[in-house]
Amino acid sequence: MKGVASVGLAIFLANGVLGGSEKYPSAFPGGGDIEITPLIHASVQIEYGGKVIQVDPWSAGDLSQARPADIILITDDPAHHLDLKAIQQLRKAGTTIVIPAVGKPQLPDGVVLANGASTEAAGVRIEAIPAYDIKPGAPEHPKGKSNGYVVTIGGRRLYFSGVTECVPEVQALKNIDVAFLPMNIPVERMMPAATAACARILNPKLVYVYHYDQDFAAKAANPSARTQGVPGGLTVAQSLDAFRDAIKGSGIEFQRAKWYPHEPDPVRDDINTVSEQCPSSAELKAIDHDLKLLFDSDPTHGTRACSAAEGSRDLTVMQSRVYRSLSVMRRLQFTEPLPWTRDSAYHWLTKSVRGVRFRADAATSSCCGPDGLINVRSVVETSQDGRQSGFALALTRTSGMDTDFRLLATFMQLLVHEARHNNGKPHTCGTKDQTIREMGAWGSAYTFQQWIAEKTQPGFVPISVKLSLQRATEQICKFQICAETCGGQ
Ligand SMILES: [Zn+2]
Ligand SMILES: [Zn+2]
Repeated sequence: MKGVASVGLAIFLANGVLGGSEKYPSAFPGGGDIEITPLIHASVQIEYGGKVIQVDPWSAGDLSQARPADIILITDDPAHHLDLKAIQQLRKAGTTIVIPAVGKPQLPDGVVLANGASTEAAGVRIEAIPAYDIKPGAPEHPKGKSNGYVVTIGGRRLYFSGVTECVPEVQALKNIDVAFLPMNIPVERMMPAATAACARILNPKLVYVYHYDQDFAAKAANPSARTQGVPGGLTVAQSLDAFRDAIKGSGIEFQRAKWYPHEPDPVRDDINTVSEQCPSSAELKAIDHDLKLLFDSDPTHGTRACSAAEGSRDLTVMQSRVYRSLSVMRRLQFTEPLPWTRDSAYHWLTKSVRGVRFRADAATSSCCGPDGLINVRSVVETSQDGRQSGFALALTRTSGMDTDFRLLATFMQLLVHEARHNNGKPHTCGTKDQTIREMGAWGSAYTFQQWIAEKTQPGFVPISVKLSLQRATEQICKFQICAETCGGQ
């Protein structure tokens, strides 16, 4: 998404404060995202619900856009973990700085947490996990000196290991959602296979490896430091590939990130990337050929989210979302056909309806008139206190929309719902359906989202999106299906 003109709507489209951040949904429906921003080496920023946590901030990285922290967690005392300059920059009045005892001389006002102890700061629970070497050898990480941390935020448990082997205390951790594990250090111990084995034991939903380029860290501290490479003769990039391969089939998602300035931006040709792109003018033409889109009412009138000058077309925010939804839908390839058609989702849709008409005078969205058009009520209402509600694609702000793709998915499932009505599927229980199985409007909308989450090519749908889709289908089950409960609930 480029060139969004409207300030009011920009909030929706801003992809975090920094380039390579990942959004992980909180455990609470509508509770927003936990935003994870790798900064450098072992330095990572976590944001949730207005709170900011900085882990091992290090001024060798670009901290110009990093946010002042409510909590700073320090794992160890080498300068790339405990950096007074970075801490000074990112602390504010009232910041809690949690440290192992070894940091006390440098940070007299730090809160010392011993291995195994826990505390609460800014409403966030923090547990100190031992971080040490089993097999001795330089660089030394003796037992008791350093901390890893488990942080509970947004109902999720995030584990920052610091530098450690996969010691019994680490192996014993339960219910970790996101884990940050060291690699290529301790030397000859946490090599890619060992780090992957540790990840399999911890079994988080999402794993990051970090602190894996020791030469970078050494040179940043001392430009004339001798480089040693990764033990075993791998390049750093090869060690990452080795980790990726070793974790395959575990069900754990590996989030490759840009931890060092020399690394390329992680490849993200996933559903989020696809849904962020303005469709090309050729693709827009193809969609116009398949579906008649009438924008009678557009609450985002006057905005511009895509432009002809960039090879797309001048589109308002809402129009761009409509076209981007259809563009994503065109690309969806399922490993198993949808239960009600052998066609692809997009092909089925274009055969089922003639198009979509966005209007202000429709009481609700419905399908279809004799013209074969889905009517979508595209009105945004603003209440006295300034809160807006109404048509999702034109909303400026709403709870429960965790990613831009999630927003588009909500619209796509509306299209599926309405088009199923046009396949001769009325509701069988008031405005609800009796069962999922009958594949009525709600069952189809449910299944469509389930298929995106579970039956797409590996890597195309990130875990964060899967969790969001899962929540959306749970909501359908709970509120729109009369006779059954779903998902084993
Ligand atoms: Zn270190
Ligand atoms: Zn309906």
